Amino acid sequence: MSESRSPVFDNSFARLSGPFYTAQAPSSVPNPGLIRINAALAEQLNISPDWLASAEGIATMAGNHVPDGAQSLAAVYAGHQFGGWNPQLGDGRAVLLGELIGTDGVRYDWQLKGSGRTPYSRGGDGKSPLGPVLREYILCEAMAALGVPTTRALGAVTSGEMVFRDQGLPGAVFSRVAQSHIRVGTMQFFAARRDNEALQTLSDYLIQRHFPDAAKAENPVLAMLNDIISRQASLIAKWQSIGFIHGVMNTDNMLLCGETIDYGPCAFMDSYDSATVFSSIDQNGRYAYGNQPSIAHWNLIQLAQALLPILDNSPTANDDSAVAIAQEAINAFPAQFLTAYQTIIKDKLGLSEFKDSDDALFQTLLSIMEAQKSDFTLCFRRLAELSNETACINSSVRELFEFNEAFTPCLQQWRQRISEDPQSPAQRQAQMFTANPVFIPRNHLVQEAIAAAEQNGDFSFFNQLIDVLAKPCEFDPTKSRYAMPAKPEQQVHQTFC
Ligand code: AMP
Ligand code: MG
Ligand code: MG
Repeated sequence: MSESRSPVFDNSFARLSGPFYTAQAPSSVPNPGLIRINAALAEQLNISPDWLASAEGIATMAGNHVPDGAQSLAAVYAGHQFGGWNPQLGDGRAVLLGELIGTDGVRYDWQLKGSGRTPYSRGGDGKSPLGPVLREYILCEAMAALGVPTTRALGAVTSGEMVFRDQGLPGAVFSRVAQSHIRVGTMQFFAARRDNEALQTLSDYLIQRHFPDAAKAENPVLAMLNDIISRQASLIAKWQSIGFIHGVMNTDNMLLCGETIDYGPCAFMDSYDSATVFSSIDQNGRYAYGNQPSIAHWNLIQLAQALLPILDNSPTANDDSAVAIAQEAINAFPAQFLTAYQTIIKDKLGLSEFKDSDDALFQTLLSIMEAQKSDFTLCFRRLAELSNETACINSSVRELFEFNEAFTPCLQQWRQRISEDPQSPAQRQAQMFTANPVFIPRNHLVQEAIAAAEQNGDFSFFNQLIDVLAKPCEFDPTKSRYAMPAKPEQQVHQTFC
């Protein structure tokens, strides 16, 4: 029998002295039941999958057992929610169990989400219904497979108790893994209280944990800010390139480590429309698909503002000099986003280099897609298939999507453009297949997985969906059900967190 490795914790955040968190044990639940574990991620965290799926592992994921070495806590933060300032937020339905050092040498947080009330729960119950836990599991693992920096799912359990929202719903607890859970809103909390010492302690901590190169810079806090900005630029470019709509880009939902977090009301776009909003709580479309880059910029401005008191470390520092430093750092975001985005556009179009004129081609393609209400994902996938017409592809999405006449002039333009590009058709197609996934977590499929689990306790579709989404760029025609857009009656117009 293989040895059973239980987690080995090393809790650097808990060791910080300062007002960053409150010690908080997770609540116990009556009857934990395993939904799924992520064996590969467990291995990466140096935990044996056997242990995680054992009674002790399940009890840990449920909050009924706190393993040796764990130091559970709820962290404090603030944030702008839909543009409005909220000075007091925090882990209201989550506790950090502790940190693990991965086999890759990276330090990871293990958080239990839905594990009961904390000092930051305000009016909430600290619990999570099953539906949002399954949604987060599916979505974050799909994002990871798509190559997008994201928090991960280590596992999920049912709690055996009901959670009350509009109706009674089965409860669950989600084991979330992140490189850290420090948010823009964390810095804002201390800035709003003029606690510069806490700001400095947190910045030093972040630099050590995520931005070691910044420590060597003349101005480490500025170097960290620059790095955070460039990570966000590349993150949001990736979201845009796959049609991911976060839905609730509040400043407390932006992690400084650069991972996507908070899969509450998020969704993937089906037919292309830059105004797409799914979130039931986003009445004004603030977080619509097309607004995501400018919202990220706005959030980063809030971060820079929060860092102002510690941003200028020169002997001549004053308020104006810090503002000038912040302004310059922040002004770099739009160009960084554009560069990151154009690099992905180039891959989606099958080009070895992006030329200015390619933007017009790309925009034309998008506008035809919008007018034709074409499926964003399948449209690019079909384009990838067309990039090498001599290749024999026996796994074509043609049955699911084909360009109609409206696209003909644009396709001609694209063919002309790729004919001038030095890559071989085979190289180009490989590039395009990687940049243009075929399996995304479509809303109606996520909904179907949740409904089967909620109504019948049947997790088989949930499990199948996760397995298919693990290889998003390899089309398998026997799985075409997972690649198809929603039929009109299956369409999901709103998502709820
Ligand atoms: P979110 O909209 O998921 O980013 O959450 C915003 C804030 O509300 C965070 O501080 C959460 O911890 C808190 N929160 C959300 N749902 C609950 C709940 N059911 N119980 C307690 N706190 C909650
Ligand atoms: Mg949140
Ligand atoms: Mg949320």
